[in-house]
Amino acid sequence: MPENVNFLSNFIHNAIDEDLKNGKYAEGIHTRFPPEPNGYLHIGHAKSICINFGTAQKYNGLCNLRFDDTNPTKEDVEYVDSIKEDVKWLGFTWDDRMFYASDYFDKLYNFAVELIKRGRAYVCDLTAEQIKEYRGTLTQAGKKSPYRDRTVDENIALFSRMKAGEFADGEKVLRAKIDMASPNITMRDPIIYRISHTQHHRTGNKWCIYPMYDFAHPLSDAIEHVTHSICTLEFEEHRPLYNWLLESLGFDERTRPRQIEFARLNLTNTVMSKRKLRQLVEGGYVSGWDDPRMPTISGFRRRGYTAEAIRDFCEQIGVAKSNSLVDVAMLEHCVREDLNKKTDRIMAVLQPIKVVITNYPADKCEYLSAENRPQGGGTRYVPFTREIYIEKQDFMEEAPRKFFRLKPGGEVRLKYAYIIKCTDVIKDSSGNITEIHCTYDPDSKRGGLTAGRKVKGTLHWISVSECLNAEVRLYDYLLKNETDAAPVDFIAALNPESLIVLHGCKIEPSVAWAGAGTKYQFLRQGYFCVDKDSSKDHLIFNRIVGLRDSWAKTSRKK
Ligand code: ATP
Ligand code: MG
Repeated sequence: MPENVNFLSNFIHNAIDEDLKNGKYAEGIHTRFPPEPNGYLHIGHAKSICINFGTAQKYNGLCNLRFDDTNPTKEDVEYVDSIKEDVKWLGFTWDDRMFYASDYFDKLYNFAVELIKRGRAYVCDLTAEQIKEYRGTLTQAGKKSPYRDRTVDENIALFSRMKAGEFADGEKVLRAKIDMASPNITMRDPIIYRISHTQHHRTGNKWCIYPMYDFAHPLSDAIEHVTHSICTLEFEEHRPLYNWLLESLGFDERTRPRQIEFARLNLTNTVMSKRKLRQLVEGGYVSGWDDPRMPTISGFRRRGYTAEAIRDFCEQIGVAKSNSLVDVAMLEHCVREDLNKKTDRIMAVLQPIKVVITNYPADKCEYLSAENRPQGGGTRYVPFTREIYIEKQDFMEEAPRKFFRLKPGGEVRLKYAYIIKCTDVIKDSSGNITEIHCTYDPDSKRGGLTAGRKVKGTLHWISVSECLNAEVRLYDYLLKNETDAAPVDFIAALNPESLIVLHGCKIEPSVAWAGAGTKYQFLRQGYFCVDKDSSKDHLIFNRIVGLRDSWAKTSRKK
């Protein structure tokens, strides 16, 4: 288990403390993370994972992983596998407690029969439209279904015929018999079982009736002896139904699950709903669920975010009772903080222009020592030659006075190496700069006579003959708009420049054998990660985050 999980107090923990003080849940605290396997997990789920697993950890309790797989049409084993991988990668473990709501289909069926026997559920023949119409509105009470007063025997017979496949989809449903006049619409005889002649990814064709989420969820929690069902705010209105079900089926109030709701995470510039993320994948707007622009755990992992940074972020945003929008810059801040500690610095030139050092011998190659990290972390040797690349933006022919990078007649220091002076600019017939000619001061390298000589600018550089080529992918937010994280037409709101691919970038030869997922700081440019599709013959780097930390700046101002 990771160390930086939610140990700070919050209202959820206060509620648990209160329960423990009152002698409830003496067997120990038990939570669960209950994803529906209909998509990949996103950063919002990470928050829920940290809260559920973190809470169990704080109280020395247990946390289950349970797949809420009650909707056979949208579910897939691919999603189950990805969810397991993501929870593990985030640093949590469910030991041998991985369950599926579908494990309980028999038990749930028996619970439904029990409700019927207790006169608390009935088979209803109204169509979906009629049920909706009868339900009433917020200001108007609902109408009772004409089938509401069927006898227990009649209901039992009909429900078992539903199970036997005698009816078509939608022909009948099983409803809880609660209160059509309840001010809470969820309580107006909600559907608890529906007919769906659909194969299920785990139970195959065994069932043609499936429990509704609102029926399966609280009962699955109760079956697993979950003590605290932590969920997001939209389930607050469902809580009375969950309690009604547990009460009706005789679950003891002292031991049955207590539901506590918290605010879901929303991030600026970020699409955060599996349904919408699936639309991006299926519409080809991204390369897949793990596209590095996606706010999925797998996308972030491929991009180069670390599990530590994501957990730290979840810790910092805390747990609240009202919905809010978190600045995505805060997540990036956490990523930077973590990578700053963990990565080696290397040099890479993303948009190269050639510099020829005219007084440096053509056949010479010197290996200059370079620190991997500002404090410790060892050194490596970078090759220096007569021809090098620098960044295009680091040269200006007609530069303003305050431009301290390279300009005609000007001097800069090359990082770890010499001071050079620009003597000439070579252009092609259409006036484009092809080469910059410089001379170097041979005594200006480390240990040299003029090593201490001060010049204003220091540039990163790469040897022309001793470098590797790389493709570098620069990412921007998927959504252009910062504040409206859920625009109605979010496809129209997509940022057309969310991916920029640079070819022919030049990079230090030291990275030749770096495996997928290896992370570096490219000096002056940001943090980068070797992509999973990268190979020795075709290096591919993802930009994880740039160096500028807008969140640290603005939060310091406050
Ligand atoms: P989505 O709307 O993205 O499909 P969901 O709530 O339908 O999300 P589930 O698979 O049902 O997805 O979610 C599993 C758990 O994760 C639930 O307990 C849910 O409340 C929680 N969760 C989902 N999205 C968020 C979020 N943005 N912030 C915090 N928790 C979330
Ligand atoms: Mg859902």
